[in-house]
Amino acid sequence: MADVVTMDRIVALCKRRGFIFPSSEIYGGVGSTYDFGHYGVLLKGNVKAEWWRAMLQERDDVVALDSAILQHPRVWEASGHLAGFTDPLVDCRACGQRFRADQLSELQCPKKPSKHPGEHSECDLTEARDFNLMFETTIGPVKESGSVAYLRPETAQGIFINFKNVLQFSRKKPPFGIAQVGKSFRNEITPGNFIFRTREFEQMEMEFFVAPDEAPRWHDYWLKQRFGWYVDLGIRPDHLRLRAHDPDELSHYSAGTSDVEYLFPLTHSRKGDPDEGAGEAAAGNWWELEGIANRTDFDLTAHAEHSGEKLEYFDQASGQRYVPYVIEPAAGTDRATLAFLVDAYDEEEVAREGAGQGETRTVLRLHPRLAPIKAAVLPLVSKDGQPELAREVFATLRARVGLGMVEYDEGGAIGKRYRRQDEIGTPWCLTVDHQSLEDNTVTVRDRDSLTQERLPIDELADVLTERVQAPWTTPKLA
Ligand code: ATP
Repeated sequence: MADVVTMDRIVALCKRRGFIFPSSEIYGGVGSTYDFGHYGVLLKGNVKAEWWRAMLQERDDVVALDSAILQHPRVWEASGHLAGFTDPLVDCRACGQRFRADQLSELQCPKKPSKHPGEHSECDLTEARDFNLMFETTIGPVKESGSVAYLRPETAQGIFINFKNVLQFSRKKPPFGIAQVGKSFRNEITPGNFIFRTREFEQMEMEFFVAPDEAPRWHDYWLKQRFGWYVDLGIRPDHLRLRAHDPDELSHYSAGTSDVEYLFPLTHSRKGDPDEGAGEAAAGNWWELEGIANRTDFDLTAHAEHSGEKLEYFDQASGQRYVPYVIEPAAGTDRATLAFLVDAYDEEEVAREGAGQGETRTVLRLHPRLAPIKAAVLPLVSKDGQPELAREVFATLRARVGLGMVEYDEGGAIGKRYRRQDEIGTPWCLTVDHQSLEDNTVTVRDRDSLTQERLPIDELADVLTERVQAPWTTPKLA
């Protein structure tokens, strides 16, 4: 596969099958924001559920939090965002576009393309000026007298300011973590590449508090854990890498950061592009999915100074008091969702199901736990009692806890219904046919191998639930 996937095809599939639409489309769209449709909601929901599973359910040293998007403005003073969360902005007087000054070498002016690859030259560029990426708003009914607030640009600070609360109620002590999933907002200068870089997006962040001298060990630990999470959920290991930041790239708070990067089939700049969809060229680029940083004691110390609250841990066993260091795996839900979609995308020539010649099918080879729909119940024909029996099967499976979403579809040729399920990544299609009415079995069609087996209806719920939860080997590696 791989060479068939381009961002254009992903965007088209997402639109065609109702995963993701440009936001406010009937009004002409609004700068790089997207709405998630039915299957997109389910897929992204499954990505988050798997993150929570790995962070909470499968361990006992992390607790959950859901902090407010609007926080006291001094939070952003303490964190350094007010002063320093800026990108250098330049305008190109030739094409009228705005660019990040640190990405110019990777962007082209469409009006006056450079003769020298990798150079945004021939253009009349303005001086770079700092542009703060936080969205500003006002709390209170009257703009003039209300107080300024910001939409949070990361979920992390909501965790730090709750450190004391959590420590008091959770009966945890370092090493322990606080995890949060939620929306963040950044007024990006160059959003683009579909949902890779948007102004409103979702993050999955966890702050793991440790004794300072244990920070390097835990940093290594979380690098391995987070890399493994993507692989376990079906991303090919050769499409993933860990890249340590160069010293000049490190954030002011970081003693070391590595990114989990994915080989996206995006041919434009590394840091976003105003053009949506990156054309049909096959080349890929390594782009960040997640950053895993050793944030030291920067945040807790800064919030302690600005708020006057003590944010430290007293170890009763050793009698020592210290400000914990923090290891932060910070992932983007939308970016992870995009990577799972891209890696799952495949097109292949297959014999036509039904009769006739071969055809090309598009299939999302998603991990069953990520698949929006786990099984589709399809009567072969919509007569002879088949729809009635199929609806009974559907009702039984729908009620099964632990199986996940099941869909019923009775309209149109069976081949077309299979293709539709392939395109949304449904691992199993259950077909009710004339034999089903005689012996209470259905055919179970496997999305990846296209093999069909007959299973008794009363075993379906058990078998499918087990298959969804079982360890899974991606067919992409076969
Ligand atoms: P980038 O360098 O790509 O702008 P970043 O290093 O600023 O990202 P972080 O601040 O480390 O990003 O945020 C953690 C994660 O949040 C990123 O790895 C990414 O997955 C996600 N993220 C950040 N900004 C955006 C955005 N504008 N759109 C979608 N996801 C984002």
